[in-house]
Amino acid sequence: MQKKIKDFMSKVIEKNPGETEFHQAVQEVVESVMPFIEKNPKYQNAKILERMVEPERVVMFRVPWQNDKGEIQVDRGFRIEMNSALGPYKGGIRFHPSVNLGILKFLAFEQVFKNSVTTLPMGGGKGGSDFDPKGKSDNEVMRFCQSFMTELQRHIGPDTDVPAGDIGVGGREIGYMFGQYKRLRNEFTGVLTGKGLNWGGSLIRPEATGYGCVYFAQEMLKTKGESLKGKVCTVSGSGNVAQYTVEKLLQLGAKSVTLSDSNGYIYDPDGISKQKLEFVMELKNVRRGRIKEYAAKYNCKYVEGRWPWEVKCDCAFPSATQNEIHDTDAKRLIKNGCILVAEGANMPSMPKAVEVFLDAKTLYAPGKASNAGGVATSGFEMSQNSQRLSWTREEVDEKLRQIMIKIHESCLKYGKKGNFTNYVDGANLAGFVKVADAMLDQGLV
Ligand code: NDP
Repeated sequence: MQKKIKDFMSKVIEKNPGETEFHQAVQEVVESVMPFIEKNPKYQNAKILERMVEPERVVMFRVPWQNDKGEIQVDRGFRIEMNSALGPYKGGIRFHPSVNLGILKFLAFEQVFKNSVTTLPMGGGKGGSDFDPKGKSDNEVMRFCQSFMTELQRHIGPDTDVPAGDIGVGGREIGYMFGQYKRLRNEFTGVLTGKGLNWGGSLIRPEATGYGCVYFAQEMLKTKGESLKGKVCTVSGSGNVAQYTVEKLLQLGAKSVTLSDSNGYIYDPDGISKQKLEFVMELKNVRRGRIKEYAAKYNCKYVEGRWPWEVKCDCAFPSATQNEIHDTDAKRLIKNGCILVAEGANMPSMPKAVEVFLDAKTLYAPGKASNAGGVATSGFEMSQNSQRLSWTREEVDEKLRQIMIKIHESCLKYGKKGNFTNYVDGANLAGFVKVADAMLDQGLV
């Protein structure tokens, strides 16, 4: 089996040189599904896995725009339309200077499996730009978004490809992009999700990834007869996912003690209260400042240039970015008594860190299972847009909770061996089977 996996990966690496994050994401899936494919030759004969690692379409384009000084800037835009076997391409847009083809292909690949486990009819895609919104004025962000959408609009549509937000893309950016799409196409449709509430957005969409991740953690703990009540939690990031993870943890009686950004982390042993979280939301979403200000305001510790994984906790919620947990961090977490890791971010744990978690029999949920609540609620937004309806907050929250329970069940179905559930195998296999069967049904496309 190891040789088969190695041979498969050699071809992927040869065909996609330098795309290390993409190789990493594919390797993880191949390790889970190759033994299953061996036992089910129909997938092997149809070269399903070989087809899945090849995007259906990749669009790369120039995004020219002018800054406030009138100087011309040129960024690069991308959309990866990875797989449409289950529905229109669906996945976020990321604006971050680190964005490149390999990172977006890893995200689009993961998205295919994630969308499949939600059980909603959505294919997988991802897009973005190396544009850095940090330090830009609202007008600069608007001009960039308008230029980005001027090209992207040719490739997307409510029945074709429906992008959403991701790192660096929140309500403000979705608004500017939606406005430009509407102007160019002369149509008001559900072409993007994460829209404002008064123009087609869904209640609970901003909260959904963080809330969903905590609901998933709750299900994992239940399998051990435990709950979140009284648990000390470390959370990384301080953006959309981190904020609503902290909010839901607080509601369920847990205590979040850390938050971070790309400069460092804060450690507040008293816990992040509702009032402190409101401060973080204003700081990050309105003033767009640094998390360091929290430490100054609430007189707690700030650690520059490090991640919060050195802080003792019961549960960890990585919610910033890919590869933020190294094997040394994973060992430290386990040594400090951490029993659960639920990923709000996509692929935050390096492969060696995942090995450490699995070897220690930690309750470890990969992002493609535990952070799927965001895209699931985007799916709800699409349904509401098509029907010109809006569901109540309670309705959407309950649907989100039920979906997370279902995703957890399918991870158990495919990943439980004896007393231990390997959620990586569970999510990969559950995601794979649905997409693979749809691809078989649809012929050689
Ligand atoms: P935001 O842009 O709202 O927040 C990102 C946070 O992570 C910020 O605090 C940011 O710090 C920090 N961060 C980003 N990149 C780095 C880096 N290279 N090093 C250190 N810190 C970093 O993004 P989201 O909260 O939306 O996304 C966070 C993660 O969750 C991503 O992995 C995303 O793919 C994933 N995700 C998001 C979903 C959503 O619905 N939004 C859905 C599913 C997954 P700073 O402000 O300094 O940049």
